[in-house]
Amino acid sequence: MAGVRKPVVEVRRSQRRRRTVSAYRDGERVVVLIPDQFSRAEESEWVDRMLARLAAREGRLARSDAELLARATRLIKLYLAEHGTQAVPTSVRWVTNQNGRWGSCTPDDGTIRISHRVRDMPDWVIDYVLMHELAHLIVPSHNARFWSLVARYPKSERARGYLEGVAAASGTPLTD
Ligand SMILES: [Zn+2]
Repeated sequence: MAGVRKPVVEVRRSQRRRRTVSAYRDGERVVVLIPDQFSRAEESEWVDRMLARLAAREGRLARSDAELLARATRLIKLYLAEHGTQAVPTSVRWVTNQNGRWGSCTPDDGTIRISHRVRDMPDWVIDYVLMHELAHLIVPSHNARFWSLVARYPKSERARGYLEGVAAASGTPLTD
């Protein structure tokens, strides 16, 4: 992956610690707390382990339902603001029971579901899938007005191409 920087790590040794190791992020740095008696080898092994654990924890948080709602809120503000509450979903969540579609929405109750298959895709693709479902809250069918709303998101065409590529490669016909 390009652009992934290794964080600056500050190791703090504690005489009170016996075996427990913990780590937390402090701005750009990651602070790793280890027992004072650890050898250099143990220190380096534990730093790697804690960095991996921290990244996994943050990765899960980063693509949570709450984050999905935050994304939707930002997209509405940027592209659908004049539609007011009509474009605001009552719930947005990741689902695993939706293999034939990237996303779906129920305009009657305002709920949006996004397939877990989208979860590991780039941010701009997730935003497109969300934008698509948000536009359905305003226009349920795939008509010209619908596509003109979706096209307000600048990377729509590119994201559609990306999704078509993934669908073709997996041999699964996927719809939106
Ligand atoms: Zn659609």
